[in-house]
Amino acid sequence: MTFAIAIAGAAGRMGQALARAAAPEASIAGGTERADSPDIGRDIGEIALGRRIGVGLSDTVAQAARSADVWLDFTAPAATLAALDALGATPVRAVIVGTTGFSPAQEAAIAAHASRLAIVKAGNFSLGVNLLLAMIGQAAARLGPDWDIEISETHHRRKVDAPSGTALMMGEAAAAGRGAALPELRLPPYEGQTGPREPGRIGFCVSRAGGVIGDHEARFASDEEILILGHRALDRAIFARGAMRAAAWAIGRKPGLYSMRDVLDL
Ligand code: NAD
Repeated sequence: MTFAIAIAGAAGRMGQALARAAAPEASIAGGTERADSPDIGRDIGEIALGRRIGVGLSDTVAQAARSADVWLDFTAPAATLAALDALGATPVRAVIVGTTGFSPAQEAAIAAHASRLAIVKAGNFSLGVNLLLAMIGQAAARLGPDWDIEISETHHRRKVDAPSGTALMMGEAAAAGRGAALPELRLPPYEGQTGPREPGRIGFCVSRAGGVIGDHEARFASDEEILILGHRALDRAIFARGAMRAAAWAIGRKPGLYSMRDVLDL
């Protein structure tokens, strides 16, 4: 099946990676950028593919989505929410949300949109990370509370939210393995007079450095041994390929909020 995609933030790092991952399964029907972007009106192919495709960058969701089957959104929380509002007046009924850093109220707003749209939302669309999440859940379930769980991540210096969406998903998978929700087990950041580490809790450690695309690690540590489960992203193409797989899966699906677990049947 071939289908038509519209790419939010098409001149961004992930937007361009999505444009490169589209062919041969999908055609690019449109794309947006911020109204003040110098790229508005430019050909999307010229920006991302080095050749014109006859589709210009728009500053409105309605125009970019008017002949698309699926909306792919890796932008910023407020932009994604505004797009979900605007998509109601377009033919799009399937949405892939890769944006991270939503507040609890914004998460609730996305869930409300899922009553009329099939939304696949993931903090990480790579196959490797989604397998990692399943493995972390298993390890947390089997290793008792005397095993400390520490999650660490490193990203490029331009990333604006922390911990990363992937690190939080790793924490959620570990907490679920221990039969709890992450807020119950999450430790505050270590700083100053922390006192000794509380048993059974989940800690986070964040680095921002250079051009790192995304390194993640979960450590399970007892007094006698340490188990390390990790993932390193070498190319943004992994997220784009996963998002395209989610797009093909979501088209024609009934409204709801789905994850990569559903797409990959993990
Ligand atoms: P980026 O800054 O390179 O790209 C974002 C683009 O969105 C920019 O070009 C920006 O101008 C555009 N944008 C912002 N507001 C807009 C609006 N209102 N309308 C249209 N376009 C708008 O950032 P990036 O590295 O591509 O990351 C984007 C988001 O995707 C971040 O939240 C990041 O954490 C997330 N991300 C998720 C995954 C995943 O697998 N889920 C992978 C990588 C990045």
